[in-house]
Amino acid sequence: MSVTRKAVALVSGGLDSMLAVQLMLDQGIHVEGINFFTGFCVEGHTHAIRNQDRKKEKRNNALWVAEQLGIKLHIIDVIEEYKDVVINPKHGYGANLNPCLDCKGFMVKKAHEWMQHNNFDFIITGEVIGQRPKSQRRDTMPVIARESGANDLLLRPLCAKRLPETLPEREGWVDRNKLLDFTGRSRKPQMALAREMGFADYAQPAGGCCFLTDAQYSHKLGDLWAARGERRYDFDDIMLLKVGRHLRPAPHFKLIVARDDGENNFLHGYRKRFVHLHATSHHGPLVLIDGEIRDEDLQLAAELTARFGQGKRAEQVEVEIVQLTGDSQIRTVKPIDGDAIPKEWYL
Ligand code: SF4
Repeated sequence: MSVTRKAVALVSGGLDSMLAVQLMLDQGIHVEGINFFTGFCVEGHTHAIRNQDRKKEKRNNALWVAEQLGIKLHIIDVIEEYKDVVINPKHGYGANLNPCLDCKGFMVKKAHEWMQHNNFDFIITGEVIGQRPKSQRRDTMPVIARESGANDLLLRPLCAKRLPETLPEREGWVDRNKLLDFTGRSRKPQMALAREMGFADYAQPAGGCCFLTDAQYSHKLGDLWAARGERRYDFDDIMLLKVGRHLRPAPHFKLIVARDDGENNFLHGYRKRFVHLHATSHHGPLVLIDGEIRDEDLQLAAELTARFGQGKRAEQVEVEIVQLTGDSQIRTVKPIDGDAIPKEWYL
């Protein structure tokens, strides 16, 4: 009696992993997916918060892909462990603070542990040689297999024909002839395969999945580390970097200014952890102060708060300042002129 072999797949929610899984299902392999929640994922947060993004899809693409494929998906929270990958990447960063090579190695290592724990036989990913400048190159793909400890239990069905045989191929669990030889950055072969497999809908591929590839987000994260004098973060920090306009008038504090009602509501949930300000005489944003604001800074913070509300051209705006103790005071200020805000303050 033949044994059904079991593969665990890294499922990002993009097209590549979707196709890789389908190739394995077509070969009679039992596949289950893993999706790692690092805290830096794009979808589902900003799309749900900002007014301007209200019309965008709010689906969790990894879950949606699993549903399309008819496989089970395990969503695993790795926020704590992942910090070391972001803070100390052995292989450095990509164009921004994206530690792609270390990240891929970490995810395959976690998938390998999961595989052993759950008696699965091998791991698959949707990687394609040459698709990403750092983590998906011919010379770095073996690094991921080696450093993760997965070695030849890691199969990349979309480009396997261009890589050395893996154990699942040698053992005949999968037929190497039915694997593919995709290479390079073009998405055309993937799109053609998707059509062939009958997938009309899939998430837009490449680049948009992770805030660490975003230049502005990375700048804000770098600023946070510089202000703290050390490279550390917690989950709330990285969530708040996704929300609001961030201005740093001085090294010891910055303002997080809601840009619309959706962000106002979201920041409201954080207000008790921060000194915060809002205009009482006009409609305006909630502003959180991150850092240690001093009494002499409150005037500037109030003038900035007034500037971003509907009273920005008024002679006087009343602003409530609420301390961490809950004590509050009202200051009457003239909103700062937009031209008087140095560009470098905007993160
Ligand atoms: S883009 Fe983000 S999630 Fe993807 S490999 Fe790079 S760091 Fe990891």
